[in-house]
Amino acid sequence: MALMKVKCPECHEEFELDNNEYDEHDRVECPECSADLIVKVKGGKFKLATDKEKYFDEDLNQFFVEED
Ligand SMILES: [Zn+2]
Repeated sequence: MALMKVKCPECHEEFELDNNEYDEHDRVECPECSADLIVKVKGGKFKLATDKEKYFDEDLNQFFVEED
């Protein structure tokens, strides 16, 4: 068991997640503000993103697809 420190992007509360229980794209509820968050793994570290950010990323990817 290893605890990873994460930060809520909504209220900036720091809390810990067990990296054996959580994986990328899992949903987590912030214990402080109850925000619905998604786990992202970057360089072996956990980060939390809001649903909004996730959809924003997808929109951006579509935006940058260029057609010949
Ligand atoms: Zn929060």
